[in-house]
Amino acid sequence: QAKQNGRNTYAFYTQALTNNARLQMSLQADLHRAIKLHQLQVFYQPQIDMHSGRVIALEALVRWQHPQRGLIPPAEFLPVAQHVGLLIPIDEYVLQQACLQMRQWLDAGYPLTCVAVNMSGSTLERGDVVSNVKKALAGANLPAAHLELELTESEIMQQDDRCIDTLDALRGMGVRLSIDDFGTGYSSLLRLKRLPVDTLKIDRGFINDLPGSANDSAISRAIIALGQSLQMSIVAEGIETQAQHDLLREMKCDVGQGYLYSKPQDVTTITAYLLDHFSAELK
Ligand code: C2E
Ligand code: MG
Ligand code: MG
Ligand code: MG
Repeated sequence: QAKQNGRNTYAFYTQALTNNARLQMSLQADLHRAIKLHQLQVFYQPQIDMHSGRVIALEALVRWQHPQRGLIPPAEFLPVAQHVGLLIPIDEYVLQQACLQMRQWLDAGYPLTCVAVNMSGSTLERGDVVSNVKKALAGANLPAAHLELELTESEIMQQDDRCIDTLDALRGMGVRLSIDDFGTGYSSLLRLKRLPVDTLKIDRGFINDLPGSANDSAISRAIIALGQSLQMSIVAEGIETQAQHDLLREMKCDVGQGYLYSKPQDVTTITAYLLDHFSAELK
């Protein structure tokens, strides 16, 4: 009997593994086509000035509109993309699209400071990243100051010191730089001090349990103080409730991003949101 069960369990797990492997393989094959067929879509989520309540920037977040599987989130296909060497072209595509879109919003008169684009460690390591960013900006006729590049803390800390030269070059062009998911990596404060960054984004993990968690309040307050003393602007991600907003605002956090204000939306929806948001001042 036990042997029988054991065999069934084994059969169950092999089946599950096979299914997962099959899914990965089919996603890999589809992903090659996805870029060509324009199935990748860039969604945008607003960033709000916590003091005035105005939208000041937007973050570009990629999704995959799969013909059979529907909308696939980045956490599910970016690892696959990385595995098959497609992460760099995807970053490049999102960067191009985001620059073109930002140009349109500025042309429409929306008073936005910048569009934030996520950049993977692999893209940062590439020798041609600086010229690619220049190309994307030139292609959209977008001044560099309207672009912010987000690098996660853990990826930035994995890089050797050569990446600081790349970051210096990008910053030298006028591009803004931001450290994403701050607090989840293992930053040395010495290294942080040397990084030419403009913005720290407090990871959603510290925001989630506010205002109830005394520990997370203390950590958020400390990150805000650290950023301020390094002359960086602070963005809190994942704000979902008014109580979180109120507390972070009281802590003098500059900018908020999260479902409380808006989920990431497709271009049409977010453009309608911006039109409505800015309608009073555009008249
Ligand atoms: P991220 O850059 O930290 O982006 C924030 C994530 O938090 C987004 O998930 C966003 O939808 C989600 N989020 C925002 N507000 C809330 C909230 O109030 N509550 C909750 N629960 N979640 C919230 P998303 O869009 O699924 O993206 C996940 C990650 O995928 C991003 O994390 C980023 O690291 C990566 N990613 C997305 N687009 C790109 C891209 O074009 N290139 C690269 N390299 N990575 C990307
Ligand atoms: Mg980000
Ligand atoms: Mg983040
Ligand atoms: Mg994140």
